[in-house]
Amino acid sequence: MSDYYSILEIQRSATPEEIKKAYRKMAIKYHPDKNPGDSESEKKFKEISEAYEVLSDSNKKQLYDRYGKEGVQGASSAGAGSYSSMEEALRTFMGAFGGMGSDSIFDMFGGGDFGGRGAGQGGRQGASKRVNISLTFQEAARGVDKELVITNYVACKECGGKGAKSAEGIKKCNRCGGAGQVFEQRGFFSMSMTCPQCHGEGRMVVDPCSACRGNGLVKEKQHVKVHIPAGVDTGMRLKMSGYGDAGQGGGPPGDLYVFIQVEPHEIFERDGNDLLLDLPVSFAEAALGCKKEVPSLLAHTCRITIPEGTQNGKVFRVKGEGFPNVHGQGKGDLLVKIFVETPTKLSPRMKELLQEFSQLEDSTNLPNRKSFLDKIKAFFV
Ligand SMILES: [Zn+2]
Ligand SMILES: [Zn+2]
Repeated sequence: MSDYYSILEIQRSATPEEIKKAYRKMAIKYHPDKNPGDSESEKKFKEISEAYEVLSDSNKKQLYDRYGKEGVQGASSAGAGSYSSMEEALRTFMGAFGGMGSDSIFDMFGGGDFGGRGAGQGGRQGASKRVNISLTFQEAARGVDKELVITNYVACKECGGKGAKSAEGIKKCNRCGGAGQVFEQRGFFSMSMTCPQCHGEGRMVVDPCSACRGNGLVKEKQHVKVHIPAGVDTGMRLKMSGYGDAGQGGGPPGDLYVFIQVEPHEIFERDGNDLLLDLPVSFAEAALGCKKEVPSLLAHTCRITIPEGTQNGKVFRVKGEGFPNVHGQGKGDLLVKIFVETPTKLSPRMKELLQEFSQLEDSTNLPNRKSFLDKIKAFFV
């Protein structure tokens, strides 16, 4: 097997962040969940995980840089210097992703800043989950209750989450004496590291529960009711604390993140909490002025007055007829943009009238004509 640096495709001078980044990128590519049954990917996944385990630990890295693989033999939880089991590789993987379960790991890259927390005092926190939810424009405007179906790891009922059939089925780890850490003396260095036998938990299940195979957790389909407040928009997310996977060894549960996607509307466009609406009016209506009914968001209509001589593109603001503020602070406005339609398919009589009209028209009837001509004159002087 080749050099750890070349395995991760990084320079020897790579910073810890660069090492982590390189590992994360490759780990996602070769993760067994993404390549089920592919032994080449599996091998690669173990290789990069082993390389990362050494290079991400400053003590081990120092030893490796000085003495090569010999230097880290025994220091690595891989023992003889190569990861034999997928379990070890996955553990390294979990560590690099801050304790998030592999179920939700790929979702994490869809966006969002999940606060994944690793194993720490009092057990391991359960994985956080992401679910996407699509809402109609009206649902987003009114608020809506939705029921989500998610598959979570929950504490095994058979063993109460302990993982063993009986109290006697849990023993203190004999390798670390229950501390979860072991010390290794190598030359001048004394290193502490996570106990490779109990993986830092300090205890071993010697009589595993048959329902959860000693894991303490089982998968379960759960129905979660979520209230979506009025005013949400695409890209917003709701955090539901404690609705992720159950924790292990007394650790807290993970969280559930609900990512919102709002479908576009046929006639309204949203700009923050304001709504935009294009309103077609005829040439005669714009010139003479008129009253118009315009639809507003929550199914009632409102009347607006279009004054005589309204120009194409003019925007009328209807206060408080926009989207509700998601924090309950009022509403946006409805912005009605006038779109003057030039008449088509004219009858001979209409043409006659327009021709007559055209002869009567002069520059005073055309408010933009004069300033336009002035600009042109200035330009050609
Ligand atoms: Zn141990
Ligand atoms: Zn169990």
